[in-house]
Amino acid sequence: MSFGFERTQRVAIIGGGPGGYEAALAAAQLGAEVTLVERAGVGGSAVITDVVPSKSLIATADAVVAIRDAEHLGVQLFARAGDGKPLRPEVAVNLGAVNRRLLALSRQQSEDMRSALVEAGVRVVSGHGRIDDDHAVVVSAGAGGTDFDRIETDTVVVSVGASPRQLPSAMPDGERILTWTQLYDMTALPEHLIVVGSGVTGAEFASAYMNLGCRVTLVSSRERVLPGEDADAAALLEAVFTRGGMTVLSRARADRVERAGEGVRVILADGRVVEGSHCLMAVGSTPNTDGIGLEGAGVERTASGHIRVNRVARTSVPNIYAVGDCTTFPPLASVAAMQGRTAVFHALGDVVIPMEPRRISANVFTAPEIATVGWQEKDVADGRIDGAVHKLPLAANPRAKMMGIREGFVKIIAQRGSGTVIGGVIVGPRASDMIYPVAIAVERRLTVDQLSRAFAVYPSLSGSITDAVRAMHMVERGDED
Ligand SMILES: Cc1cc2nc3c(=O)[nH]c(=O)nc-3n(C[C@H](O)[C@H](O)[C@H](O)COP(=O)(O)OP(=O)(O)OC[C@H]3O[C@@H](n4cnc5c(N)ncnc54)[C@H](O)[C@@H]3O)c2cc1C
Repeated sequence: MSFGFERTQRVAIIGGGPGGYEAALAAAQLGAEVTLVERAGVGGSAVITDVVPSKSLIATADAVVAIRDAEHLGVQLFARAGDGKPLRPEVAVNLGAVNRRLLALSRQQSEDMRSALVEAGVRVVSGHGRIDDDHAVVVSAGAGGTDFDRIETDTVVVSVGASPRQLPSAMPDGERILTWTQLYDMTALPEHLIVVGSGVTGAEFASAYMNLGCRVTLVSSRERVLPGEDADAAALLEAVFTRGGMTVLSRARADRVERAGEGVRVILADGRVVEGSHCLMAVGSTPNTDGIGLEGAGVERTASGHIRVNRVARTSVPNIYAVGDCTTFPPLASVAAMQGRTAVFHALGDVVIPMEPRRISANVFTAPEIATVGWQEKDVADGRIDGAVHKLPLAANPRAKMMGIREGFVKIIAQRGSGTVIGGVIVGPRASDMIYPVAIAVERRLTVDQLSRAFAVYPSLSGSITDAVRAMHMVERGDED
């Protein structure tokens, strides 16, 4: 397929994470000649070190919570002692087995994705890619190594991702002071895990290890955990953390982290010292954008090194696109994949709808989960948008009662007057799945009445979404007061 071009278009992609992978598949689908250069493994950090292993670990933590909470539903677990008396068994997590499972899963997923690319006709080259000029990518065995391949191309897609940010005062040693990529070498649960950083990554791991049975201290430099999230959701989660036995140190900036014999010592800026067995540094990421020829090609970056892109993922150089964590867009696998597809559609002349960052749905995989999309209550409170907010506790939902769910809520944000659904927050188990109808409403600009007309199964957790939008009927009528 030439798509109006005189000859087959060539697309070269550097990095095979969700961004590069999706770009490669889309380009192959449109009949382009596609080469993807990947230095570690197809699937990228998302599959090998970040999303797949962390969400598999969280699945195990959720299983522990389900067993623990089953008691509330009348399920009791007993073993018999030698004298026939019932014993209450303990839930024990074999972290070695858990980690072996999730690493095998990641490897398999990476191999499956590589096979899918090859099957689609993509040439996959193992090596370190670099832009040579704006129409060629060269490949070496490693950064600074000898080049062994040169790929002439019409379009370049840079999708090199990001790496854990390392602070000189808290250098990871891979044994006790760890980045999230180093957690899966542990063969036993840490005795006391100190998590530095209370953003999404820090909160997810703190939640998971607490539920797996570890003592956890969360060091947060801010007033509360998850400073970027809905305030009600963050407050609820912090209460769950505290009730679960976690120590949450708020307004506590970690100054340095050092080894202390067989453990670690975290020294806070106010002089306090926290001692533990291990420390997880979850203090953000830095983009992998150095040494890949961006300056030479004239591609603009921000001070933090992120590549500036527009809503179709185009950089300051017309035939060079950039997608995923190395760009100025939110660092999510789903965003990287969508950008990858958008970039290729734009480059090859297919129908493109520019991405709207406001419509991205995101989830924090804590227990309970926190899912969000669109405008938030804070935007309404700060006067950025004229919206009405309605919140329903999940505890009032009949299915939630049957399932023993006591925590969580559904919050819908709609524009005053039009009643258009412009945002939402869901806190609860599998909020990540529950947010989808709200995301569709936001994307398709459905009103509260339109959303309420769709049937939710009775009884179901999603019934709380229809209940909330039904309650907002007068917002659409413009006279809710
Ligand atoms: C712990 C953790 C959990 C997360 N969980 C979620 C989640 O649940 N949901 C979600 O949506 N997002 C999640 N994220 C974010 C998600 O991992 C990233 O947004 C996603 O990986 C970005 O995809 P990408 O394609 O931009 O880059 P990556 O996945 O980082 O892939 C980039 C690839 O480029 C390769 N590369 C880099 N430089 C070169 C080069 N010069 N030559 C060749 N190859 C190169 C790398 O080897 C890598 O394979 C999580 C992140 C973390 C840290």
